[in-house]
Amino acid sequence: MSGRAAPFYCPYCGEERLEPRAGEGAWFCRDCVRSFQLKFLGVGAPREAGAPGPQSEESSS
Ligand SMILES: [Zn+2]
Repeated sequence: MSGRAAPFYCPYCGEERLEPRAGEGAWFCRDCVRSFQLKFLGVGAPREAGAPGPQSEESSS
């Protein structure tokens, strides 16, 4: 295995009967018959997109 974590619960219905699907991080829920994919996005706190940053106003010193 590539060290990829397995989900414990379906993110849509919360049931635990998940089966791995073909594909990277792809899972299938037998209860709600949904398929979804988990993707690792990176390490670190996420930046808020659209939030006003400290450089929105230029300091005039
Ligand atoms: Zn489900």
